[in-house]
Amino acid sequence: STILELTNVAKTYHTRFNANAVQALTDVSLSVETGEYVAIMGESGSGKSTLLNLIAALDKPTSGSINLNGTELSTIPEGKSAKFRREHLGFVFQDFNLLDTFKVQDNIVLPLVLSKTPVPEMEKRVKDLAPKLGLGDKLAKFPYELSGGQQQRVAAARALITNPELLLADEPTGALDSRTADELLQLFAQLNGDGQTILMVTHSAVAASHAGRVLFIRDGRIFHQLYRGDLTQDE
Ligand code: ADP
Ligand code: ADP
Repeated sequence: STILELTNVAKTYHTRFNANAVQALTDVSLSVETGEYVAIMGESGSGKSTLLNLIAALDKPTSGSINLNGTELSTIPEGKSAKFRREHLGFVFQDFNLLDTFKVQDNIVLPLVLSKTPVPEMEKRVKDLAPKLGLGDKLAKFPYELSGGQQQRVAAARALITNPELLLADEPTGALDSRTADELLQLFAQLNGDGQTILMVTHSAVAASHAGRVLFIRDGRIFHQLYRGDLTQDE
């Protein structure tokens, strides 16, 4: 079944100091099936962050519609979008976005704390999830005690702890060296193998080549797509 559907989405930014409007996205239509691993690849400024922000209901399109698992995002009332994100989406960012003063386990359960999940349920979920991400023995540490790759796995655990319908990743390997990046990409592939639907934006061809399908974006338009079997494997 289809989990995400964008229909003729456009986004124009009007800035206070710039007379020229920026057309960041033009006529973007795309559809993602449950269980897919889709990468959106494009250079800096091509519109990737804009696209993710719209899918995450952090911003609204200028025109067109976005439907996430049956919910038309434009119908989410002002003030309810944070709750919607918490209940349906997980996020992994380039710079991890961990809280330095919280232990690993408290970083991981943060979305559950925000949704007022009972403590025993939080403890159960973190005990189940942490070993899958190789974090079983890291829960009592602080983020600064971990390597970059381990910190990104903590960020992934925090994104997954709510069992999101869709995992969104914005340049998740951008701050990692190539070996650590490869480990994270293996983890994403494993999560997808277990059924997790993933949408990742990246400017890295290596990262994109791990996805089942790659959409190429340039100047705010998706101009090409490739399925995994079609990709040249030259890592
Ligand atoms: P990418 O993530 O691929 O680097 P972005 O979506 O950030 O691309 O940007 C696409 C275009 O929109 C760029 O020209 C960028 O400068 C512009 N843009 C992005 N965000 C804003 C904003 N908040 N206000 C004005 N212009 C923006
Ligand atoms: P990314 O690495 O995710 O593409 P950017 O450096 O393009 O990030 O943008 C960082 C932030 O600045 C984003 O939130 C984006 O929306 C905003 N932004 C990008 N371009 C512009 C712009 N021309 N005017 C205002 N904000 C912008």
